Amino acid sequence: MNSHKILPPIHVHPIVFFFITVAVLTGMLVDLVIIFFIVFVHEMGHYYFARKFNWKVKRIYLWIFGGVMETEDDARRSWKEEWIVTIAGPMQHLFLFFFFYLLAASGLVPDSTINIAMQYNTFILLGNLLPILPLDGGRMLQLVCDDLFPFQTAVSLAILLSCVSIVTVLFIAFFIGHLSLSLGLLFVFLFWENRLEWKRRHYKWWKFILYRKSDAKIYKKKSVLHVERERRLVDIFQQFYRNRYNVIRINDVPICLSEADCIHAFLSNKLHHLTIGDIADTKEEVNYV
Ligand SMILES: [Zn+2]
Repeated sequence: MNSHKILPPIHVHPIVFFFITVAVLTGMLVDLVIIFFIVFVHEMGHYYFARKFNWKVKRIYLWIFGGVMETEDDARRSWKEEWIVTIAGPMQHLFLFFFFYLLAASGLVPDSTINIAMQYNTFILLGNLLPILPLDGGRMLQLVCDDLFPFQTAVSLAILLSCVSIVTVLFIAFFIGHLSLSLGLLFVFLFWENRLEWKRRHYKWWKFILYRKSDAKIYKKKSVLHVERERRLVDIFQQFYRNRYNVIRINDVPICLSEADCIHAFLSNKLHHLTIGDIADTKEEVNYV
């Protein structure tokens, strides 16, 4: 069980070996050690809160200028929990600024090294807040989309906006003359990750439906969907919001069904063509509104 482990499995992305080679050849090994230290502390921030909420953490994937904590629990957990776990990473940079400040005051480390560490800390913090998946800024973008749109739309929209952000940042870097090989590779990697996310979007959405905690008390907001009797349940699920309790009202009939009714009926019957009308007919008691 991960909850008993101090550290999860840590993997290093192959792109890092390219950067290690560049660092050795250009005499920037100290820079690389500082970057790894900052990224590691950042990921520990995510991991601390993930453990606190008993998330299943598969591993931490470290790559240059960032890392990814891979978990099986992202879409299954509450919107609020995910916000806390996401923000915990960037928050570590504030503690790091304080740590570097104390280190400078102690006189144990040369000022030049502290200055470099401060610069990397700022750079990694700001870079991480770009609205690009899987960076923390991208995850925050995803959470904002989750709040404003049905989950299926939110997942696709966040990926599309991530890609728009990648292209925008690349254009800006090109026009101000800061488009380097390292930055180019970094954005190729980010683009690739978004391509994978796009391919996984249906799987993610099904996971969201299958593991949905349909308890009205958990959610502060409610979404009321007005649908026809003939509407299939799978189509209705596409309109479900993550951070709201979904209630379905059948047009022209004073019947209101909860998301719990629909998901339960769908999972028990396992019929793809099941309609909301079928569920309303089988219910002995319906809520009149
Ligand atoms: Zn992070």
